[in-house]
Amino acid sequence: MSDHRQPSPIRRHKTRVIRLGSLFLGGDHPIRVQSMTNTDTRDVKASTAQVLALAEAGCEIVRLAVPDEEAARALKAIKAVSPVPLVADIHFDHRLALMALESGVDGLRINPGNIGGPEKVAAVVRAASERGAPIRIGVNSGSVEKSLLAKYGGPTPQAMVESALHHVRLLEDQGFDQIKISLKSSSVPATIAAYSLLSETVDYPLHIGITEAGTPLRGAAKSGVGLGVLLWMGLGDTLRVSLTGDPLTEMTPAWEILRCLGIRERGPEIVSCPTCGRTEIDLAGLAQAVEEKLRYVRTPIKVAVMGCVVNGPGEAREADIGLAGGRDCAVIFRKGEVVRKVRGESNVLAEFLRELDTIITEFENR
Ligand code: SF4
Repeated sequence: MSDHRQPSPIRRHKTRVIRLGSLFLGGDHPIRVQSMTNTDTRDVKASTAQVLALAEAGCEIVRLAVPDEEAARALKAIKAVSPVPLVADIHFDHRLALMALESGVDGLRINPGNIGGPEKVAAVVRAASERGAPIRIGVNSGSVEKSLLAKYGGPTPQAMVESALHHVRLLEDQGFDQIKISLKSSSVPATIAAYSLLSETVDYPLHIGITEAGTPLRGAAKSGVGLGVLLWMGLGDTLRVSLTGDPLTEMTPAWEILRCLGIRERGPEIVSCPTCGRTEIDLAGLAQAVEEKLRYVRTPIKVAVMGCVVNGPGEAREADIGLAGGRDCAVIFRKGEVVRKVRGESNVLAEFLRELDTIITEFENR
């Protein structure tokens, strides 16, 4: 299971570049990780805390729901302390979009076909243009227009693409092209087909995701497959792993997806064996404690937590530092070479964490 690193063979689909606050999206710019708060946006304290926690955990763009005027106004205070660009998520009411822009948000998520006619679209476009804010058009399989459902016999990839292009044209008709697009379905094959089809038609940056992916374990697996395939095809300029519950749980799978494909990395990589009949130590507990210890570490070291000295070091030869458990003991190794033995299972975690601190400091001082 050694990791002979390969350069990523991914060729990104060429998209035009748009600006979102301090970030550029599309073209050769990094594929950005984003999420959405699940606090009440009107609760400035809670929403600000979640934005800051998300940013600390690696979220580079945060979206907030704007259900009413109070929420639109609250964005001002949240934006004042946010270290990352904020996007206001608006449904139907163009006045909320105007208010959110006044509050200083960096971008909007709004479908212009749903806000009540060309004059309202023109007002939003004017305000967005003045502030240099891009607009994301977001089509979900559940929100495809009835006429398109009838035409295609359901929310097919073709129906989703036609819906998105309809919204795109409404913005383009107003001379606006700072657009990104998402086409999310809870079906992985339908999502992949929709993005593929869309990318043959327009070059706007793509926000990719699998909607309503589910609870953390299932949702991460589903998103891993869907987003992994899309990224491998070169599609996607920003991504969200949508999971039920605390949005902070989205960060680890989002970054792991990017890391697995050799696209971007952030923080340590942790390798741990699945355990087997040779395991004589509480390896799952150790792996979890190591993961917890490294949660806020940014240094890109590779750490291996293995169940036995027979195969552990060899299987994790590429790791910068590793641990291999034995009966009431463990060995610590670097790059697959054993450097020392720790006796007594109760000492193993503390000793390993001490070694981890040392190597992190070494890496940081390089
Ligand atoms: Fe089993 Fe050792 Fe492999 Fe872990 S490293 S799965 S304990 S053989």
